[in-house]
Amino acid sequence: MKVRTRVAPSPTGDPHVGTAYMALFSYCFAKKHGGDFILRIEDTDSERSSPEAEKKIMDALDWLGLSFDEGPSKEGRHAPYRQSERSRLYKKYIQELLASGNAFRCFCTRDRLEELRKSQMSEGKTTRYDGLCLNLSESDVAQKISNNVPHVVRMRVPDNGNCVVNDELRGVIEIAWDQVDMQVLMKTDGTPTYHFAVVVDDHLMEITHIIRGEEWINSAPKHIKLYEYFGWDMPSLIHMPLLRNPDKSKLSKRKNPTAIDFYKDMGFLPEALLNYLGMLGWSMPGGEEKFSLDEMVADFELSRITLGAPIFDVEKLKWLNGVWLRSYDDEKYKEKLISWLQEKPSIKSIIPLVKERIDIFTEMAPLTSFFLDGMPSISLEDFESVTQEREDIVKILQFSLWCLEVQTDWSKEVIHDSLIFLADNMNLKVREFLRPIFIAISGKSVSPPLFDSMTIIGPDICKARLKHSIELLGGVSKKQTKKLEKIYRDIKVD
Ligand code: GLU
Repeated sequence: MKVRTRVAPSPTGDPHVGTAYMALFSYCFAKKHGGDFILRIEDTDSERSSPEAEKKIMDALDWLGLSFDEGPSKEGRHAPYRQSERSRLYKKYIQELLASGNAFRCFCTRDRLEELRKSQMSEGKTTRYDGLCLNLSESDVAQKISNNVPHVVRMRVPDNGNCVVNDELRGVIEIAWDQVDMQVLMKTDGTPTYHFAVVVDDHLMEITHIIRGEEWINSAPKHIKLYEYFGWDMPSLIHMPLLRNPDKSKLSKRKNPTAIDFYKDMGFLPEALLNYLGMLGWSMPGGEEKFSLDEMVADFELSRITLGAPIFDVEKLKWLNGVWLRSYDDEKYKEKLISWLQEKPSIKSIIPLVKERIDIFTEMAPLTSFFLDGMPSISLEDFESVTQEREDIVKILQFSLWCLEVQTDWSKEVIHDSLIFLADNMNLKVREFLRPIFIAISGKSVSPPLFDSMTIIGPDICKARLKHSIELLGGVSKKQTKKLEKIYRDIKVD
């Protein structure tokens, strides 16, 4: 049997270091066993998925050197590798489940389901579908279909007993069937849910080992049951411990930069990021801290995966990056530096912004150094020239951050239009609104024009700089975030 693993990210938002982490372990396991590593794009959520995000995933894997054997743009035997292009297959297999009686159509309205949820919650029960539509006769179903009553397809699950989940890292985990919902497999619009598509695709793509985050353990019974209904062999399950923030909560961009591109733009080396991610979940037999991807592949053993809660600590990553950098001779160091600089804005794009402001070249560096900077060195005093109260400055920065986080196009026009629209909706004068953003982004009192500069600096560093200033100004607590989110929603920015 040829080992086949996959990473299956959803192309929504910026590629996450968690995706790199799963990709790394899936890659190492496959390569160690002479197998294939596959990239599958899980874009069933058409509203949130975008081709830009898919491209960013591919670029990030490429930058990291985790090359896949099959995937979009590298079509193999099991193409297509994008779920949105596989609907014909899901339709076929859902028919099979309906015909065997292992799935059923559910016509319950949203209101009924909401009522059910509330009453189960008030009784302290697990919230799950109660199976009402299982009692419909064939003729009832046929009539509803001919009347075009909207419906979903759900899977049957056993009423009692336990499901035995065999996790390669944790051994046997038993989950009671009465805790497992009759999962929706196909939505009203005929598109599959994750749980259905993942099973069909992992089977058809001949995946032998599924390496994914531990947050999916509770979903395993649904998947196992589906394999059983179809009579397919169950792949091995390996649930990796989740990466955590320093306070042990699940790694989130609220507390830590999570975008792979952020690390790339900040000047981290891909080999150091991979090494760090490897180190978080695994250890070399000799205990070395610095190891390359090839070394990790050569020594890879599932038994060396640690099940603790790995803390993603940017300082530690920075230290490791320094170790890598210092290990290079000057020639190699120069190559690495130049390759990073080449990814940076070209000098040519900066010229129009500074041409009118300088007379000799040496005046250029102070004006433009912030293009190459990571986080600007600013302090609270830098915000003293802003007339608003600290709380209002934080609000402007936080709202701008949310507003920019949903932009998939990072052109000057989009940044300009979305921020000016936000200023209008916040009833603020443009100058007043832009001042704190200007300081957060440039860290200076004079700099080239804001929107041009933001375009050049790029989305990841701009967002990180806004966040950096928010933290500097005291940060936003969970409670405040909720309050701000409500105001933000009410001003209808999107
Ligand atoms: N699309 C899922 C995710 O992004 C994949 C989970 C899995 O590996 O099965 O988390």
